[in-house]
Amino acid sequence: MRLVDCDVAVVGGGPAGSSAARAAAAAGAHVILLEEHPVIGSPVFCAEGLSLNGIKDAGLEPIAPLVAQKITKARVFAPNRNYIDLTSDNWVGYALNRQFFDKAIGDLAVKAGAELMTDTKVSGVFRENGKVAGVVAEHGGEQVKVKAKVTIGADGYWSIVRRSAGMERWYPDVVTCAQYQLGGLHLDDPSTNEFYVGTCYAPGGYAWVFPKNGETANVGLGVRNIHTEPAINYLRTFLDSDPRFDGAKVLRRNGGVTPVSGMLDKIVDDNLMLVGDAAGQLVPMTGAGIHSGIEAGKMAGREAVDAIVGEDTSAERLNLYRVKFEKYWGKRIRDSRKIVEMLDKFSDDDLNTLSTVITNDEILSLANGQNTNRTVAKICARSPGKIMKLMAAYLK
Ligand SMILES: Cc1cc2nc3c(=O)[nH]c(=O)nc-3n(C[C@H](O)[C@H](O)[C@H](O)COP(=O)(O)OP(=O)(O)OC[C@H]3O[C@@H](n4cnc5c(N)ncnc54)[C@H](O)[C@@H]3O)c2cc1C
Repeated sequence: MRLVDCDVAVVGGGPAGSSAARAAAAAGAHVILLEEHPVIGSPVFCAEGLSLNGIKDAGLEPIAPLVAQKITKARVFAPNRNYIDLTSDNWVGYALNRQFFDKAIGDLAVKAGAELMTDTKVSGVFRENGKVAGVVAEHGGEQVKVKAKVTIGADGYWSIVRRSAGMERWYPDVVTCAQYQLGGLHLDDPSTNEFYVGTCYAPGGYAWVFPKNGETANVGLGVRNIHTEPAINYLRTFLDSDPRFDGAKVLRRNGGVTPVSGMLDKIVDDNLMLVGDAAGQLVPMTGAGIHSGIEAGKMAGREAVDAIVGEDTSAERLNLYRVKFEKYWGKRIRDSRKIVEMLDKFSDDDLNTLSTVITNDEILSLANGQNTNRTVAKICARSPGKIMKLMAAYLK
């Protein structure tokens, strides 16, 4: 078995891993970034929506080929297909081309000095003196032992790093997604992302139409554990219900799993950190994890290097990364999870009623997990009795 040595080993070249590798390399560490696929960014399992702030926080600009379409409006449909249009003066989003976007973050990591090993599948961590000391991987048929002072697991929801290190095996709640990329469409307004909320579309989750241009869109949905059928069956029903999709060409079929139970309790150990989906760091209401993963990666990468320089890579020291992440993102994730649990108690009829009393800004606040207490209290104050009761439970 070949042995290589580094300061920081980052497993997974997604947005979280590449951001961690970039931050650690920029801080002067010898970083090895391990990615199982031949090229960072492919295959894509994503609806590809990201805010301008998310793109900028990745260190990138919204230019082709990283982005496909500017998004200026979100249209949220209630079960009865009444809709509310959401726009905001200080919000712009994009449909990404994630294969190029993820690769561009990986390129930034390499530019900062990280060593990239593609085609390298990590099979687990190894320990020395009882503590994680790096990972074992396979690269071109050869076993490689990557010894590191700090290992960062950024290997997605299934995270072999997390599981082989004896941390959480699974999440209490996940969304299972099915998605087609459809071509040959004639979309009226490709700058609008559509969201469909209600059990009639996607039990426990939502359906989406995210245009990439006037002819192409990612059309998918995610369902939670309260679903009764596979996600693909709901997607077929959703597609059949909308004449815009008649005769559309399926360009790509994909899907995936997003952990929506919130950030895991334990995301660091001695010499070990988890970031992104591996740590459950998505915003549960939307299932969005690109931006939070990038920010977690940056914080973890910097904290890992500070810990190495200070010669203390204990769980307690590395936990400073979590403390920093908690301040903004951790709170958003927690509050958003509470909104998910509140809305679980709403029937489709209740959602229809809610759609008649909720405002543009309030939907954004609930969806993003921002100012949720104040927003719920405001909606409660002017809602009919049943909705008031359902929402009041949130404030207890
Ligand atoms: C259908 C769907 C639609 C979504 N849409 C959106 C959206 O529109 N906007 C949004 O913000 N979020 C969206 N998400 C969530 C988003 O994709 C994730 O939150 C985000 O990709 C998390 O980034 P990450 O770097 O933590 O993990 P990932 O992007 O999953 O990256 C993990 C990386 O680790 C690599 N890897 C895994 N195991 C190993 C191993 N053993 N050895 C080496 N490498 C390994 C993988 O190949 C991958 O490159 C969606 C998710 C799904 C499933």
